Amino acid sequence: MDNKETRNFIEREIDKDLKEGTYSSVHTRFPPEPNGYLHIGHAKSIVLNSGIAEEYGGLFNLRFDDTNPTKEKPEFVESIKEDVKWLGADWGDRLFFASSYFDKMYEYALVLIEKGSAYVSELNADEIREYRGTLTEPGKEDPGRNRSVEENLRIFKEMKDGVYEDGKYVLRGKIDMASPNINMRDPILYRIAHIPHHNTGDKWCIYPMYDFAHPLEDAIEGISHSLCTLEFEDHRPLYDWVIKECGIEVPPRQIEFAKLYLNNVVTGKRYIKKLVEDGTVDGWDDPRLVSIAGLRRRGYTPESIRKFVELCGISKAQSTAEMEMLEYCIREDLKPKVKRLMAVIHPLKLIIDNYPEGQTEELKAVNNPDNEELGERTVSFSRELWIEREDFMEEPPKKYFRLFPGNEVRLMNAYFVKCTGCDKDAEGNITAVHCTYDPLTKQGTGVEIGRKVKGTIHWVNAGDAAPAEIRLYENIVDEEKGVYNEEGNINLNPNSLEVCAGFVEKSLSEAKAYDSFQFVRNGFFCADAKDSKPGKPVFNRIVSLKSSFKLSQ
Ligand code: ATP
Ligand code: MG
Repeated sequence: MDNKETRNFIEREIDKDLKEGTYSSVHTRFPPEPNGYLHIGHAKSIVLNSGIAEEYGGLFNLRFDDTNPTKEKPEFVESIKEDVKWLGADWGDRLFFASSYFDKMYEYALVLIEKGSAYVSELNADEIREYRGTLTEPGKEDPGRNRSVEENLRIFKEMKDGVYEDGKYVLRGKIDMASPNINMRDPILYRIAHIPHHNTGDKWCIYPMYDFAHPLEDAIEGISHSLCTLEFEDHRPLYDWVIKECGIEVPPRQIEFAKLYLNNVVTGKRYIKKLVEDGTVDGWDDPRLVSIAGLRRRGYTPESIRKFVELCGISKAQSTAEMEMLEYCIREDLKPKVKRLMAVIHPLKLIIDNYPEGQTEELKAVNNPDNEELGERTVSFSRELWIEREDFMEEPPKKYFRLFPGNEVRLMNAYFVKCTGCDKDAEGNITAVHCTYDPLTKQGTGVEIGRKVKGTIHWVNAGDAAPAEIRLYENIVDEEKGVYNEEGNINLNPNSLEVCAGFVEKSLSEAKAYDSFQFVRNGFFCADAKDSKPGKPVFNRIVSLKSSFKLSQ
């Protein structure tokens, strides 16, 4: 295997397990609950689990952990499949649903009852909590703890047969009410819930709890290494208890790793869901979200997300990553891959007074100086152009090298122009900028004019540029205030979306969903998959070009 130094702690554990013969092969799974869309944190788990399976020539399962029908929906099953596939994790024909093991789980529950390791309890939720004790005090025994096996079997079967309403009884594991680990104080294994399930319909009105179901799901599928996040560390003794009490021959091994958190970003499923449900964002795939669907719609690529996860690393120590690192990854990914075109986001008319009226010429432009394969194109040029509003100032500050009266700049891929003044409306707003061009400065003609300019600005030809809606994004969180306020609500940034009526080179008018480009000086952009239509393009800014982020490695 690889160099020891570069292997993460999970790989080292697996190496050891294989060497010692605890397992003969590696089998992992990604076990999402279909109660929402996946987010960047899940990407870490997906990349880790599928990557480990691939690295060891093992198997990888996509398993829906659908044991709690309250919030689960087929819409989420479909979106999760799409996102996992898009990220490049291949489950082949290994798609499973925990709900298809309900019969087996029920059988295992009977086994536990029969051997005296589980009992039916009549306590309600509040009482169970009260009986559980605290970190400093042991719990109290449930009055149902000493019920006979026969009686437990009878009531549990009746629970399954729908005899009782929700909450009347639960099935508890008989472990240790004095355990220092509260998870071991007779945990609930099954509860009654008369709720139809997206896969099993009305067949069941009792559902297994996560701590009982998950180890069994792993065992049934023959998982060797059950990789999960740190919050389950204290549940591991219970995981192992279930496996042992149920007599599983080859016990799967749970190993915990730290969750991926992004500083100042809404990552939890619950919180993303809230933003979706209260209409703050445009669905689960809003480009401001770090849901996988949102990142995809924004223009992130699977490669950039995988790279990000890799840079974050796998460890047991909780830490937070910076959004800037994710942005760095998409910039690096797209830089050599996409064409660099011109688009004007906040347009202002530039009139070249000495350019012949009615004349248009085609100028050559290189599509990406870092990637010859992307070739060349022509851009049309005429007397009236669109430039960025911020590229003209009537009274410029020091070190402003763009257009102002008397100053000369280069129009990218075209000519030098010298600013002569501007037009204003009755309110004093600037409506157009005037200039003259120097035909000898035509780009690519090789004419040496012996003059230099300090500024280069981009432009599009007003005569045939395509109007485009351009969406600029900021963090949906108000970074000054932090993600959550005292009531647990999200501090929203009111400026997280700016919609601009811009102009793009005419070929961009037909951009297809997810097509990405660099718009020179403005950043990387992606045609919006929901709203962009041929002739009516809409672009999302994925990321700007500049960053203070430095990869420190
Ligand atoms: P959330 O924390 O957003 O509510 P969840 O953990 O409830 O998500 P699940 O569908 O239960 O979502 O998660 C599926 C798998 O993804 C689990 O194994 C879980 O540990 C892992 N996972 C969830 N969030 C993260 C994260 N931020 N970083 C790494 N793995 C994660
Ligand atoms: Mg969960």
